[in-house]
Amino acid sequence: MVVLKFGGTSVGEVESIRRVAGIIAAERRSRVVVVSALAGVTDALLNLAAAGATIPGNPPPRNLDLLLRRHLAAAEMIRERAARAALQHELYAIGAQVAATLEAAPGRLSARSIDEVAAAGELWSSRLLAAVLHDSGLASTWIDARGVMRTNGHHGGAAPDLVATREACVRLLRPQLDRGDIVVLGGFIGSDAKGATTTLGRGGSDCSAAVLGACLGAEEIQIWTDVDGIMTADPRQVSHARVVPHLSYGEAHDLASFGAKVLHPGTIAPAVDCAIPVVVRNSQRPDGSGTVVSAARTAADARPVAGLACGAGVSLFEVIAHERADVDEFVSRVFGELELADVEAILADLCGNRLVFTVQAAPALDLLRRSLARFADVRVTDGLATVTVVGEGLSANPHFAADAAGALRDLRVHLVAQPDGKRTLSLVVDATEAITAVSRLHDWYFGGARRRKAAQTSMVQA
Ligand code: ADP
Ligand code: ASP
Ligand code: MG
Repeated sequence: MVVLKFGGTSVGEVESIRRVAGIIAAERRSRVVVVSALAGVTDALLNLAAAGATIPGNPPPRNLDLLLRRHLAAAEMIRERAARAALQHELYAIGAQVAATLEAAPGRLSARSIDEVAAAGELWSSRLLAAVLHDSGLASTWIDARGVMRTNGHHGGAAPDLVATREACVRLLRPQLDRGDIVVLGGFIGSDAKGATTTLGRGGSDCSAAVLGACLGAEEIQIWTDVDGIMTADPRQVSHARVVPHLSYGEAHDLASFGAKVLHPGTIAPAVDCAIPVVVRNSQRPDGSGTVVSAARTAADARPVAGLACGAGVSLFEVIAHERADVDEFVSRVFGELELADVEAILADLCGNRLVFTVQAAPALDLLRRSLARFADVRVTDGLATVTVVGEGLSANPHFAADAAGALRDLRVHLVAQPDGKRTLSLVVDATEAITAVSRLHDWYFGGARRRKAAQTSMVQA
């Protein structure tokens, strides 16, 4: 049994939905299909939710109407009249539910209502794809993912509840699979213990696929997207980035956690626990073999660096204890304030009485800065990015950090950190120089002899 997940980039247009149906048909094993909202739909729904409540009795917002029309237009591809009408009825009902949520909210929408609005994207796309499969002669069943993916109540970034999800998989998905049906459901969405709709955070459909794969004991979790696999860097930042045929679970997890958008960071843990390979492939070029993420070691893994990731929207806190303060007490007080503010320190470095750490930019940071300033000197630098080098082989080279910092030495590097001490090295740079830093490091590690030599020469001249 395999899980196939198709991202919004794979289901943007009618043509691509047809291609996706072809990929699903070509897979002969028992299948669960997880689909994201059509490209751009979640952004549009979140914009609608951010615009706030609508006035009861007024027509629904124009942008909601446009979204509904886009799905209704795609439904025209269903050839059989009754099936097309039934699908259009479902699509209308989902749109009407969004309109009702927008109307019912007083002023600004609650986090719970925002999730209800955002969920429409995956409800629409999964209904559509299930109907397309049926129309292509494939026995398929649509299942409401909110009844299967059980989560905690953290709206906007809910964590899956594996025990409850496994139970729901056995009860709701297994009988359909045993009957030979392809099960189709939306990614990204779930529900909490009270039945309220939740979402797993942006890009969360990858995580849905991995959790369902783990709960059903899948042989493979396939992530179909718009690139040929996980690459040595984001091809939007480094045009000559190349596909990495194999990554360890740890490497893929670190690339995702430090900003490689191709995988949601929550994708790897469920797969590791059940030793399920995660395969990333291009839905526009289904013949390619993509990237396999697994525990196996291959000869190609003997390279020092697997890839680079870049994360934007980073702020750096430099917190210096007042004279004569006890350092241990100072550090635990700083982390206590971080916990109170619900802010996570990503990279941290302590040198004497000076603690430096990075955080993701958020409105809570100003309050955090003021609380820390009550007992320490605080300096905050915004507008930064982290560039992270990832590879199982990193630890074998003791000069690695110095080499990487050297390759960037004409750029302003605010912090160099090796969070786990072995597989990753992060450099914090100005956001405006992040792409230069990624390209420079990419050429250094992957550019081949000629480029490497050029990088060395330019460093000597710098
Ligand atoms: P989907 O809609 O399929 O979930 P995403 O946009 O979430 O697609 O992820 C695919 C994108 O991830 C690619 O288009 C690419 O720009 C970006 N990306 C970032 N880092 C990497 C990387 N290391 N390898 C491949 N793609 C990457
Ligand atoms: N549709 C959701 C998003 O845009 C989830 C996903 O694409 O994985 O974030
Ligand atoms: Mg994605």
